[in-house]
Amino acid sequence: MKKFFVFCSVLLVSCCLMAQTKEKKVLIIGIDGCKPDVLLYANTPHIDRLVKGGAYSFNAKTDPISSSGICWTGMLTGVWHEKHNVTTNSYKNPNIENYPHFFNRIKEHNDKLKTYSVVNWAPIHKIIRKGEADIVESYKPDEKVANRVAELIEKKRSDVIFVQLDDVDHAGHAHNYSLQSEQYVQSVEKADSLVGVMVSAIKRRKDVEQEDWHIIVTTDHGGSNFGHGKDIPTHTTIFYVINGPDVQKGEILEPVNVVDVAVTALSVMGLEIKEAWNLDGEVKGVNSNE
Ligand SMILES: [Zn+2]
Repeated sequence: MKKFFVFCSVLLVSCCLMAQTKEKKVLIIGIDGCKPDVLLYANTPHIDRLVKGGAYSFNAKTDPISSSGICWTGMLTGVWHEKHNVTTNSYKNPNIENYPHFFNRIKEHNDKLKTYSVVNWAPIHKIIRKGEADIVESYKPDEKVANRVAELIEKKRSDVIFVQLDDVDHAGHAHNYSLQSEQYVQSVEKADSLVGVMVSAIKRRKDVEQEDWHIIVTTDHGGSNFGHGKDIPTHTTIFYVINGPDVQKGEILEPVNVVDVAVTALSVMGLEIKEAWNLDGEVKGVNSNE
């Protein structure tokens, strides 16, 4: 009996250790110019599944200067434009010394972790410095982005991946950011199918059982009348979805902001968010690491 007890204890401790040593992984998928109301209206089974099992807000906020460069930089640095200093899509003088891309903090934490950024709209990469990312690539159209990401997920060691899809924003500029625009709605449905391509690749990883994947799906801004950039709700209201083992399932009732994305990703990866970093974002929808 005593032997059996010892055996059970060893088994229990081993199980706990195994649970603790699961590797944390983050996949962030940003769909440029994807309005929350249209996402809710469109037929998007893959994102719906992530929402159902995850934490979400369809009333999150992006930067008041609701243009792509400003908002993506806020998402990826965890601070508003007053700090990161990107105020136009020309990315003049970004303050990346003080507010670097969150990959920088991942690498500082553990330089063995692999960071990949694969996008359609290449200017996003202007804030990535040497040594911060293992893969920095851009492709057009979105299918190529998604297929490349699926390939990386399935075949490579992957820890933190950022993906940007851009074709929904093109549809918004060309056909209007509206429920009434068939082309815009269809572009959101297409982006959803590409989310499915990338998320399903996770299941094909050979070590997936030893990994804890968190998936964030979000956007940089909304739009109206074939454009965006203003500080008005149709432009600044965005959605945020996080799915993974540590999420607090259901609607996130506290305010969610674009700057929360990087901070949440850092926390999921096991980093303690340091006060000295002076970040504006907070951990949202997932148990904080502190
Ligand atoms: Zn954009």
